[in-house]
Amino acid sequence: MSVIDNLPPLRDVIAIHGLSARKSLGQNFLLDLNLTAKIARMAGDVSGADILEIGPGPGGLTRGLLASGARRVVAVEKDARCLPALAEIATAYPERLEVIEGDALTIDPLDHLTPPIKIAANLPYNVGTELLVRWLTPETWPPFWSSLTLMFQREVAERIVAQPGSKAYGRLAVLAQWRAEARIVLSLPPEAFTPPPKVSSAVVQLQALPAPRFDADASVLSDVVARAFNQRRKMLRASLKGLGSWAEDALLAAGIKPTERAEQVSLEAFCSLARAVAARR
Ligand code: SAM
Repeated sequence: MSVIDNLPPLRDVIAIHGLSARKSLGQNFLLDLNLTAKIARMAGDVSGADILEIGPGPGGLTRGLLASGARRVVAVEKDARCLPALAEIATAYPERLEVIEGDALTIDPLDHLTPPIKIAANLPYNVGTELLVRWLTPETWPPFWSSLTLMFQREVAERIVAQPGSKAYGRLAVLAQWRAEARIVLSLPPEAFTPPPKVSSAVVQLQALPAPRFDADASVLSDVVARAFNQRRKMLRASLKGLGSWAEDALLAAGIKPTERAEQVSLEAFCSLARAVAARR
């Protein structure tokens, strides 16, 4: 029996089901159920919400979320070896856990979820940023989720909350802070995981804003920011050349000096630039 439920400790679950960690699936497991319950609490009040979890693995965070009172958890897992362990959790929490076997990059779990929806995950490192960018860039806002509570490599977490002028400032910071309130709420050393990864990790909490901070089209902003930071050492008039012969005019229309570098440009100015670019397309 574990500290938070009547199920076996996670080390036993892993041994019983032969869940040796696979690097190719980004498997670094959290085995301390006190810690997973703490991360679950960082998602706020989950009692009236459906939680989308990506990559439940042996189910540490899943159990934390269920023990914290989540109405339902819908978990998408690519590794079929984890399914028997997850089925045992589903039995312990009747009607509250649904596991979908598959790749989170191709599965659309929306049909399985009822609002309000929160997302919580110890993300597989190989797909974490891709999923985050997708959740941040739907055409319309607010999105299907109200908050994201996500574990990333520390360096990625710092990129999400970075401010202009810092080395970590880039596409992730602009896209995250444009439509959400983002903060780092927990830092974890490699030893918190089994097996330990090479780097430290951090949990980022993103709260969806009711409306974006500044007007812009999501796909135009995403494209402009990707180009601007792709060659972050270059002046913007050079890095944005690919937009068209009018790129420098768009910069001027947005009040940005064409000789500036992406690192110096505020979120507000990037949104002005996205509007100026959209007007010329
Ligand atoms: N949530 C568990 C925990 O905290 O111990 C496991 C986290 S582990 C970092 C990442 C999990 O994501 C693994 O279980 C892995 O199999 C799963 N995974 C990897 N790629 C995936 C994908 N594309 N779609 C869904 N799950 C994936």
